[in-house]
Amino acid sequence: MPHFGLIGRRLAHSYSKVYFEEKFRALGLQDCHYDLYETENIGTIRDFLKRYPLDGFNVTIPYKEAIVPQLDDMDPVAREIGAVNVVKVHRAADASLCLVGYNTDAPAFRDSLLPLLQQWHREALILGTGGAAKAVAWALRRCGVAYRFVSRSPEGQGRMGYADAWRAARQALLIVNATPVGMYPDVGDTPWQHPEVLTAKHLCYDLIYNPSATRFLREAALQGATVQNGLDMLHRQADLAFDIFFAPKP
Ligand code: NAP
Repeated sequence: MPHFGLIGRRLAHSYSKVYFEEKFRALGLQDCHYDLYETENIGTIRDFLKRYPLDGFNVTIPYKEAIVPQLDDMDPVAREIGAVNVVKVHRAADASLCLVGYNTDAPAFRDSLLPLLQQWHREALILGTGGAAKAVAWALRRCGVAYRFVSRSPEGQGRMGYADAWRAARQALLIVNATPVGMYPDVGDTPWQHPEVLTAKHLCYDLIYNPSATRFLREAALQGATVQNGLDMLHRQADLAFDIFFAPKP
């Protein structure tokens, strides 16, 4: 009975179980299951897989980078980004495991962003510096958009603090929220304190999908900006993960 799941610290916001199980049903894969595994500490993943013998799993906040040292191999995109959101579990005849990591966030974000990009979106601000922010940066490099990270720890190349970011937004007309700020249940929070600098030329993309309109996106829309939430990206990364889970054995 093929079994898959999502591992993260807090999963109340997640739509992954519903999405995967609807997809299994639609494809007639009634014996496939997908479950959520909340854990305070990802610990030793091989011990976890002894208790829960998954065939593959997704990884979310805050373990996308922490999982990397426990993998046997990574695909080139995940290796370049240094963060993994999909792990395929290969079992040998002697029951030993081979864990291969992938990053489907990055191509999912790129494919979701491309139809929204206008020729004036040449510079971007990425809010946050975690695994999702690195996947966004990978996609922006592929799209030819220059970017800087906005961080609470602004020291370091290619980074700035929130106190300077609002000025940079005069040139950077693409702003991507890759922090969890504003996500359910903290829906009154926003990572962007200066909505007044946003204009109709801005494209504001929030990787959060729950709520569907975060405070960041609602305030940006009031300024006439184009807004996009993370649901399209979520579906795309899940579809790419599905293809990895069900790919024929190498
Ligand atoms: P993460 O590693 O926990 O956090 C990302 C970064 O956000 C951190 O490195 C931090 O950067 C910043 N941050 C965290 N808490 C903050 C706070 N209270 N105030 C300001 N900044 C804060 O998370 P992640 O895995 O990268 O994911 C980020 C978000 O993207 C989450 O909401 C996740 O659900 C969403 N996501 C959505 C999709 C999708 O398919 N739609 C896919 C992946 C992720 P600094 O310390 O540098 O400030």
